[in-house]
Amino acid sequence: MNIAGAKVLLTGGGRGIGRFLVERLAAESAEVFVLERDEALCAELRAIEGGKVNALSCDVSSADAVDAALKQVFDAGFDPDVLVNNAGIIHSEPLVNMLARGVDRVHSRENWRRVMAIDLDSVFFVTGRVVDQMLAKRRKGVVISISSIAANGNPGQTAYSAAKAGVNAMTQTWAKELGAMGLRFAAIAPGFIDTPSTREALSEAVLTRLQQQVPLRRLGNMDSIYLAVRHIIENDYLTGTVLEVDGGLVI
Ligand code: NAP
Repeated sequence: MNIAGAKVLLTGGGRGIGRFLVERLAAESAEVFVLERDEALCAELRAIEGGKVNALSCDVSSADAVDAALKQVFDAGFDPDVLVNNAGIIHSEPLVNMLARGVDRVHSRENWRRVMAIDLDSVFFVTGRVVDQMLAKRRKGVVISISSIAANGNPGQTAYSAAKAGVNAMTQTWAKELGAMGLRFAAIAPGFIDTPSTREALSEAVLTRLQQQVPLRRLGNMDSIYLAVRHIIENDYLTGTVLEVDGGLVI
């Protein structure tokens, strides 16, 4: 599929990797529609020069909000060729916090549900509706979900790892279920990417230590994720893949 002229629906494009992908896709003449929770960020996206970016405020962890927003998107004549499930939150918490005293040491169930809602439910809610529309419009589509190498099991990230493993499993399931209809599904599993959220979550000392574990000895940049997105869109014989973009970290 060519990027120029493709209609790309992307979740969580207000900041970080999603914002970078929106700007690069629009610069390559894709038409981009963003579902982003924060209305102020939506306004910023709509103001991107060139007029190829539209955005609607939507909490993609809510099934009702997703259904209402996508109805508006489809009614406006935007039939996606590409869906990028990017919205997500990174959450770190051990199963049992052995240092905690006088409080419940077990992983908060509220945090578990919140991470599952944003990182896993959202992919299920949005993909179901978008694939249904692709099938109704007889479009050959591609769905790209941003997963994580944490899907392999990352100590201290029970909920995040489980959600991203679920994303990979859905990707492979849908690739088998819908390949005969001309639809493709792939996931991208980034390692440590140099984003504002990574720098907020991890201290400089931790980042330096982590980089020593990466064979390429550095953080990834957001362009490496864009190049993976572009490869998946353009390569029509690629489906069911989980593409690791991690500098060799999981070898
Ligand atoms: P980020 O900077 O926190 O950006 C996430 C974006 O998603 C924000 O614009 C956020 O909007 C939006 N969002 C979050 N929850 C939402 C919801 N319920 N509904 C709609 N929009 C929502 O994160 P990032 O680092 O760019 O990560 C993007 C994706 O890559 C995530 O899926 C993450 O798990 C994955 N990833 C990142 C890294 C990394 O190193 N950064 C590594 C592996 C995987 P608000 O401003 O409203 O919160």
